[in-house]
Amino acid sequence: MKIVGITGGIGSGKTTIARYFNERFDIPVYYADTEAKALMQTDALRNQIINLLGDKAYENNILDRKYVASKVFKDSKLLEQLNKIVHPAVKVHFEEWSVVQEAPYVLKEAAILFENGTHTSCDFVILVTAPEDVRIQRVLDRDHTSVKEIKNRIDKQWDDFKKIPLADFVIENIDLEISKKKVLEIHLQLLATPLNT
Ligand code: ATP
Repeated sequence: MKIVGITGGIGSGKTTIARYFNERFDIPVYYADTEAKALMQTDALRNQIINLLGDKAYENNILDRKYVASKVFKDSKLLEQLNKIVHPAVKVHFEEWSVVQEAPYVLKEAAILFENGTHTSCDFVILVTAPEDVRIQRVLDRDHTSVKEIKNRIDKQWDDFKKIPLADFVIENIDLEISKKKVLEIHLQLLATPLNT
């Protein structure tokens, strides 16, 4: 199965673009961040996370994301250990999911792909970009959050200038209609490109 990663900074529109691939061309999409959250609710991961971060990591069996964030974001070693629990589980889950898909290729959507080396397990990577002020405004319109919180998340992601040279395709997602045309172009290229080139 041809695996195409799709990534981009917060508010770039990667989920919107991934959803469009699915709606327009029926391409299966694996939303890695959503799946990671779901996997963190399974017994196997819950036990490991409690061992790492303590009972307070779950409140009534639901992951207490604020508590977890407060622990790991000030301690990079803890974050690394948490990632060592979650990332392999997502990898296995994704592989199980991808082998049963029937499509010319699948998309793996993730906010962080280059930063953790996951791009190396993709055959191609699409990077979605937009100017930072546009991204911040989109997230402010979408979520109950603050500019400070958004900037904190941006600081944990790589800048586009670092990601662009590593991407096979870049969608500058400002005008959605232009992005959709670019999606068609990329889709056709992906259909035409064999895996070993
Ligand atoms: P996050 O990393 O926070 O999940 P994301 O990159 O997945 O963000 P989306 O959720 O797809 O981004 O988009 C952020 C917001 O911007 C959404 O409300 C979406 O509807 C809107 N949006 C996406 N693309 C465009 C566009 N080209 N023009 C206007 N609004 C857009």
